[in-house]
Amino acid sequence: IFDEIYEIGEDGVPEFKTYIAGKWIYGEKFKDIKSPINGEVIARVSILSREQIEEAISTTYEIGREKIRDYPGEKRISSFLKAAEMMKEAFDDFVRILILDAGKPKSNAMGEVKATIERLEKTTFEFGRLIGDYIPGDWSEETLESEAIVKREPYGLILAISPFNYPLFISATKVIPALLSGNAVLLKPASADPLAPILFTRVLELSGLPKESFSLLTVPGGFMDDIVRDKRIRAITFTGSTEVGEHIIRTGGIKAYHLELGGKDPAIVLNDANIEESVEKIVKGIVTYSGQRCDAIRLILVEEDIYEQFRESLVAQLSKIEPKNPLEDENAIMGPLIDEDSANYIEEIYKDAIEKGARPLLEFRRRGNYVWPIVLEVNNEILPTLRAFNEDVFGPLALLIKVKDEDEAIEIANSSRFGLDAAVFTTCEKRARKVARKLEVGSVFINEYPRHGIGYYPFGGMKDSGIGREGIGYSLEMLTTTKTIVHNFR
Ligand code: NAD
Repeated sequence: IFDEIYEIGEDGVPEFKTYIAGKWIYGEKFKDIKSPINGEVIARVSILSREQIEEAISTTYEIGREKIRDYPGEKRISSFLKAAEMMKEAFDDFVRILILDAGKPKSNAMGEVKATIERLEKTTFEFGRLIGDYIPGDWSEETLESEAIVKREPYGLILAISPFNYPLFISATKVIPALLSGNAVLLKPASADPLAPILFTRVLELSGLPKESFSLLTVPGGFMDDIVRDKRIRAITFTGSTEVGEHIIRTGGIKAYHLELGGKDPAIVLNDANIEESVEKIVKGIVTYSGQRCDAIRLILVEEDIYEQFRESLVAQLSKIEPKNPLEDENAIMGPLIDEDSANYIEEIYKDAIEKGARPLLEFRRRGNYVWPIVLEVNNEILPTLRAFNEDVFGPLALLIKVKDEDEAIEIANSSRFGLDAAVFTTCEKRARKVARKLEVGSVFINEYPRHGIGYYPFGGMKDSGIGREGIGYSLEMLTTTKTIVHNFR
């Protein structure tokens, strides 16, 4: 099903077209896509010209918006189910693309493709959450002879912007609910690894959904301001860094925004926790996909009476883990970081912390963009001065802090400008509830590291971690507004 969307270039590298409102076209130039695994050019992707971008927006807006609204819900669902079947057949292609393009370990790539398929299948009952309200008027004199229905309405045209770390799944979690709720959608995939979203778009095209109701904007991030400002786009759903999210709001002006931004997830380990189990889970929270996850654990706050034992076990487990080439080792847990710049950034953050007095618990190791796990022991005083604490770090780096009790742990966790998720490890239900109640975050995981799966439970951030919630049903709320229709009987 993918043969028609690329051609093989003179040097044997596939050159991909992009999709604008029903047509696959070449852009005005190509961008080389390099694999983070070894730097090889694995594909070229079309970069749209300004005229092509305008054509994509205007056709999706003028034709796609009407068509998707007139395409009944049950047909939308059967299209998504058909897309799920096509993805099952192309499962290996998607997995291989994610390994090559995003540098994912195989298990992570497989998990992402499975989650995307599951998300398509869940539209069967997700659509059932798209309901409104009936409000009787008989509660007040003034409205006695009226009643209202409150309908969920699509915004019309939605811009979905996704990050590099789950290029397929995060794109899908925006495009699926947007279309399911009757919106047309423009998808802007991350520039680093857009191949899986390109294949996904092909699957959607063949699923029977109105062809003009979606477009793929393969353009560089810096090109986006005019698009973000465009008044035909009434809502933006963005997942990415806090800095870019803030820039988008400032640029876009009055629109609806759904923003999933950076995190600084703390893991709080209380003195009654099962130490071995908590270490095992926290290690996964640090190293999975080399910590390039918004929900990765970045702060570990441990009560003083178990601190030494915890630290010893953490170091023992982490020193066994190293980044590997995912093509050579199918069981790799860690692979490369997405590019050399990201590894340089992590090294800078590391050096900043060392200069300010942090103590490394593992030797700093790096080969190109392959970075070994980093844990830095810090105290409460230097913590607020560290770039590792204040910035949206995206790598396998965590800060370990000894705390005297749960109140101090909560205070430190809440002093972060981020508020995405947190984990609490304890065998005492009452203490778990107390800590969970006081943390200023969107999700708290008790005896588990933060992980969101297909979004069956809603998630999203407080503070600088974002606005709104994602998840089955909850995403529909973000991508629709309401309209109140009042009936008068007088
Ligand atoms: P990024 O912010 O650099 O880019 C995200 C997307 O925005 C990309 O598609 C990029 O091309 C685009 N973009 C860049 N500049 C833009 C601009 N001026 N206008 C419009 N779009 C622009 O993020 P990234 O490096 O791709 O991903 C990592 C970040 O994503 C981390 O900060 C991470 O915390 C965050 N993230 C958050 C969640 C969540 O659910 N909260 C999930 C995954 C990733």
